Amino acid sequence: MLLEWLFPPKCPYCERTIRYDMTECLCCRAAYPLDPRIEITPKGDICIAPFTYEGNVAQALRNFKFRKTVFNSRSFSAAIVSAIRKTYYKDMDFEIVTDVPLTHSRIRKRGYNQSELIARHVARLTDKPFEELLERTVDSEYQHYLGREERIKHNKRYYNVISAEQVKGKTILLIDDIMTSGATLSSCSEVLKDAGAERVLCASVAIARK
Ligand SMILES: [Zn+2]
Repeated sequence: MLLEWLFPPKCPYCERTIRYDMTECLCCRAAYPLDPRIEITPKGDICIAPFTYEGNVAQALRNFKFRKTVFNSRSFSAAIVSAIRKTYYKDMDFEIVTDVPLTHSRIRKRGYNQSELIARHVARLTDKPFEELLERTVDSEYQHYLGREERIKHNKRYYNVISAEQVKGKTILLIDDIMTSGATLSSCSEVLKDAGAERVLCASVAIARK
């Protein structure tokens, strides 16, 4: 195939060339952690991730964010789904998949919202609808200077539910690329629950080491 010859896909984690029907190389897949990371966000939601944010996974996420290696999202979402199946699916389910939104100016600058790309793949792999439920209202670059408690309080004002009707009574899977303090996921989850969501489950590609 000409396309394959011109643009062979690369393993997100070691950057070796792989076949088109693969999402990562067999060596890297064999080295996946056996158990998913499970963390509780500051507001008490469960967040599940296949990886810890370190080494090749951290590099793959940085490439995805800054070098626009969109292909990586296929491997990330498959890993998330497998982590979810090991945990969430045992006693609960979700009805909608959504993402942590970026401001329009960020999306324009970057070209895409990385969490949205992952969330759309996760929705497809789990046969659930992807819906854009939240919008980000203001860019809060300066939030990095605030403390953790302040960030949670502060963040909440920067997210809105697009339509409360879509959210009411629903169990929602909320996707972000990386969970660090959990402040962002907490804020989004709180906004969704304030709008009537029954439950919010969180998942990310990687969770920062504590
Ligand atoms: Zn690899």
